Amino acid sequence: MGEDAVGPRCVSLVVQKYGGTSVGSIDRIHAVADRICQSRLAGYQLVVVVSAMGGETNRLESLGHEVSATPSPREWDVLLASGEQVSIALLTMALQERGASAKSYLGDQVRFRTDSSHTRARITTVETSNLQAELENGVIPVVAGFQGIDEHGDITTIGRGGSDTTAVALAAVLRAEECQIYTDVDGVFTADPRIVKNAARLQQVSLEEMIEMASLGARVLHSRAVEIAHKYGVPLRVLSSFDDTPGTRICKERQGMEEPLVSAVTHEIDEAKLTVRGVPDEPGIAYRVLGPLGAASILIDMIVQNIGKDGTTDLTFTVKRCYFERAKQILDSTIAEMKKQWDAPTVEHLEVSGDDRIAKVTAVGLGMRSHSGVATRMFAALADAGINIQAISTSEIKISVVISDIYVELAVRAVHEAFGLSDDGSAESRSESI
Ligand code: ASP
Ligand code: MG
Repeated sequence: MGEDAVGPRCVSLVVQKYGGTSVGSIDRIHAVADRICQSRLAGYQLVVVVSAMGGETNRLESLGHEVSATPSPREWDVLLASGEQVSIALLTMALQERGASAKSYLGDQVRFRTDSSHTRARITTVETSNLQAELENGVIPVVAGFQGIDEHGDITTIGRGGSDTTAVALAAVLRAEECQIYTDVDGVFTADPRIVKNAARLQQVSLEEMIEMASLGARVLHSRAVEIAHKYGVPLRVLSSFDDTPGTRICKERQGMEEPLVSAVTHEIDEAKLTVRGVPDEPGIAYRVLGPLGAASILIDMIVQNIGKDGTTDLTFTVKRCYFERAKQILDSTIAEMKKQWDAPTVEHLEVSGDDRIAKVTAVGLGMRSHSGVATRMFAALADAGINIQAISTSEIKISVVISDIYVELAVRAVHEAFGLSDDGSAESRSESI
């Protein structure tokens, strides 16, 4: 922060969120307090949001499991929310040690209201009057992430990893200039650096791209946080609390240079594929086959329907791997029903098959909107690597392919290379048209 500031701007409000590893020890809490004081000296008004100290929420979960196999969701939230109560108090004390005026706030003191779906509550409203009064008095509010209060006055939590979402929601209602998510990585990369050694840190990404990059983002950002940022136009920055690099800015529109054709390559390995063969090719059939899955809250992702032949067709789609068995069971009973209702010749070949060893590789980039040939370049890269594509889906700004999961690393490297995304690739080579 402050890299583009021209002298102190007293009115600029920034929300800073520090994750579990950033406040994981007393030394780290002191380091974060120093960083907050520096930002304050640079003239920013600050609201700080913190997670529980690293590992603490997991520890609380284990304690809970030791006591009860079926804990009540209300008590579970009371338990889990306690981690943040410790970290806000310690950080506030560290700030006060430095002479800063700071005050800790629990979710209910801010009036961070949610619905009553304990452990995964949705935010309804956030009152800002308390925080605004503190800001006017030069106080730094240090707010507990991840927790809220429902209409009955009960403590709620908004889902594991939810402090990012707390921070973005506060930034939205306070109309902050930026919401800075401090973590233990330097920002968002063009691919997972564990797979692609020369993956580059992205200086900027659009919120739209970030939503598509959920699988990359998931490791650095809670996906609901990105959705709220997109909805309310909150500029985000992901940066490390361990060094002074500028991180990745995630905002509505990219500034400056032409949009790169492809910004990043993401991958997901927790996928599975199901195929229903010999489905009667007639109106309403996709609904008939897939409807029961939707009713069971199983999210279906890529769907491919083959061209019908001899009155029947095949439907292939993907689900998260954890839903694979359940989805298969539901499909088996759906087709058993269909077999009972239809004449034998129509549904003779009706059958379900599946593969839970697949992966999805996706190229994301706003530049795809205005350039053709992106898909071809991606397919050529996969062909050169000898990787078979099992299904394809595209949107305006992404192309996803399903492949066998044993080739996922090879595929990510090949596509990353094909679009010149490596650290040594210049900005020009990334934005050239084809
Ligand atoms: N402490 C909570 C968790 O570990 C929330 C967060 O870290 O964002 O899930
Ligand atoms: Mg976290």
